[in-house]
Amino acid sequence: MAREPIVILGTGLAGYNTARELRRLEAGKRLALTLVTRDDGRFYSKPDLSVALARGKAPDEIPLADAGEMAAQLDATILTHAPVARIDRAARKVVLEDGRGLAYGRVVLALGAEPVRPPLAGDAAGEVLSVNDLDGYRRFRERLDGHERVAILGAGLIGCEFANDLAATGHRVTVADPAPWPLARFLPEAAGRRLERELAALGVTWRFGVTAERVDRVDGALALRLSDGSTIAADVALSAVGLRPRTALAAEAGLATGRGILVDRLLRTSDPAIHALGDCAEVLPEGAPGEPGREGLVLPFVMPLVQGARALARTLAGEPTPVRYPAMPVAVKTPAHPVVVAPPAPGAEGAWEVAEDEGGVRALFRAPDGRLLGFALTGAHVKERPALARELPPLLP
Ligand SMILES: Cc1cc2nc3c(=O)[nH]c(=O)nc-3n(C[C@H](O)[C@H](O)[C@H](O)COP(=O)(O)OP(=O)(O)OC[C@H]3O[C@@H](n4cnc5c(N)ncnc54)[C@H](O)[C@@H]3O)c2cc1C
Repeated sequence: MAREPIVILGTGLAGYNTARELRRLEAGKRLALTLVTRDDGRFYSKPDLSVALARGKAPDEIPLADAGEMAAQLDATILTHAPVARIDRAARKVVLEDGRGLAYGRVVLALGAEPVRPPLAGDAAGEVLSVNDLDGYRRFRERLDGHERVAILGAGLIGCEFANDLAATGHRVTVADPAPWPLARFLPEAAGRRLERELAALGVTWRFGVTAERVDRVDGALALRLSDGSTIAADVALSAVGLRPRTALAAEAGLATGRGILVDRLLRTSDPAIHALGDCAEVLPEGAPGEPGREGLVLPFVMPLVQGARALARTLAGEPTPVRYPAMPVAVKTPAHPVVVAPPAPGAEGAWEVAEDEGGVRALFRAPDGRLLGFALTGAHVKERPALARELPPLLP
């Protein structure tokens, strides 16, 4: 098989997991491997960022290994602070912003996603932070130092987790979202309302049905003006309104993109020498990238990229292996009232059956014939996750 170098772009969980899985395989051990990242290449678990305050961890205590240690562990070359400018497919080279060119046999795009910036007016709009990596988290913690009032835009997974972590450590948190309850995209109303109440009991103030329109500096603090005319006063503002897969490098190289970088079940882009996985990828259940009208799965969570890394490593090592996704419930890390959700597929036919008791909410989404297609569990009911997950159909069989 080919001995040409494999170049992995990105050292997040997707990039590092792929490298690790490759080195576990006999055939994968022999391949030359280079990883490239624009950050410092430290290995860390991103989900730890939204629970670090309550665990008493400073940003520099979160990483598990630095780039030198990872290079030794993985028997790989790791280029840090090396932003990629473009991929020259004709010359089979990855071109870095500093002009260096890296010849490749195959490329893995593990470029992650970009936080969506809400359109905000005002002289302090640029002071609204977002956290999607360790550097962003360090900036957030520096800004937070000695301050109490935090405004969070977005009551999705990341917004709710930060709200819990901040409120549990004595901060005064206000969360604003246009939806009517937290995690509204994933949770039926009863489960969302329960989380809303439990986090309110911890001290979180909710503002639903509103968007932030402008942010100004007033008397040394931030004033966030909402669409209903009211204002939130805060020392720090955090935006958690969503993520957009990083598709620009792929699109500029002429690869097919949709919401993410389009790949087939072998995680191949429209160029078979280039693969993609993790937050940047959109996986087509069937068909090939480039065929018109195809839409795939964009799943910006850890479990899908772990499944992807396992399959992709085998494929790169010479044994083509389609990615399979079992049902992959997502745990929302709100220790004040934990949540686990396995949303039904978009457009799935069925209805929620909701039961609530003092422990929390148990909501099951069933098809008309009774099959379980999704669930949402809160509080004490999260312990039912393993049994219910076994009943769910796989996302990609
Ligand atoms: C606060 C928070 C909490 C989370 N909690 C959970 C959770 O509990 N459970 C869960 O399943 N998921 C969670 N997630 C999501 C999960 O962390 C992500 O899905 C996962 O970490 C994405 O990994 P990735 O490797 O695809 O992307 P990233 O980690 O974003 O890595 C992208 C890499 O690409 C590099 N890169 C980008 N552009 C370039 C360029 N031009 N040149 C060179 N390098 C480049 C970056 O430097 C980086 O190394 C959470 C996310 C956040 C932000």
